[in-house]
Amino acid sequence: MRIVRTVAELRAALEPHRGGGIGFVPTMGALHEGHLSLLRAAAAENETVVLSIFVNPTQFGEAADLDAYPRTEEADVELAALAGTHIVFAPSAAEMYPAGFATTVSVHGALTSTLEGAVRGRSHFDGVATVVATLLLAVGPDRAYFGAKDAQQVVVVRRMVTDLRIPVEIVARPTSRDADGLARSSRNARLSAEERRLAAVIPRSLRAAQDAFASGIRNTHRLTSLVHEGLTEAGLDHEYVRIVDADSLEPLTDIARPALLALAVRVGQVRLIDNVVLDPGVDDRIALEGSLR
Ligand code: AMP
Repeated sequence: MRIVRTVAELRAALEPHRGGGIGFVPTMGALHEGHLSLLRAAAAENETVVLSIFVNPTQFGEAADLDAYPRTEEADVELAALAGTHIVFAPSAAEMYPAGFATTVSVHGALTSTLEGAVRGRSHFDGVATVVATLLLAVGPDRAYFGAKDAQQVVVVRRMVTDLRIPVEIVARPTSRDADGLARSSRNARLSAEERRLAAVIPRSLRAAQDAFASGIRNTHRLTSLVHEGLTEAGLDHEYVRIVDADSLEPLTDIARPALLALAVRVGQVRLIDNVVLDPGVDDRIALEGSLR
């Protein structure tokens, strides 16, 4: 496995592998099982696997959140090798945003103004779209792998890739969860033992809504109320709990098409997001088996 720090080195390293299938997994590092599941999927479907590790400053609103973001490159490199990675691209901020950098990729409309965009502001998805476009153009992968945990990010990246005709297949993989259902996240490492215990109420509340949905409730207000109740009982502050159309991300009052139940919650100083899909076309018991149980 090679570690490269510049786009020029990356392109040179990839040159002999073009045509054989290149799979790309962009991350901000502090790798956990969720990232590794993406790398393993990439290794199963491509001859060459590229991992990027870059804590992208332009997608952070709060400087404190950026500073507190865990950075564990040595351990990441070891885990990445075990998961089948061939090339790690770990650029500096100056390499990604050289002096004079003046371009922003901006996806407009409901896709970026709702959920995370509503709380973190437009600049968050501008930062995501710009860095993902830059990375996709630097790597030139056949397939790029993203986690369903950041469901809105997947929708935004798919829109951008379609609009800009970037020739890559975007592959979304299921959310990887701890045994109690909590979605794995690099930010979980910042939870105290007590906060980690409390955080389990997040998947429990989502599961309560899934159970209600499975029993036939389609009204989004009733379903989000169930989640609110669960979180409030545990004393957790939510930034949002919302049900939107899974493709357009437009708000829904009743669920007749696949919908996304998404939330952002603060546990102490740590901001966590999670989501589940509520799909009236799928046998709900099977959907439940595959997601939270
Ligand atoms: P991050 O390093 O948090 O920016 O995440 C990098 C990629 O890993 C994104 O596509 C995330 O959606 C994905 N990811 C993060 N956590 C998980 C998880 N628990 N399960 C699956 N994918 C994840």
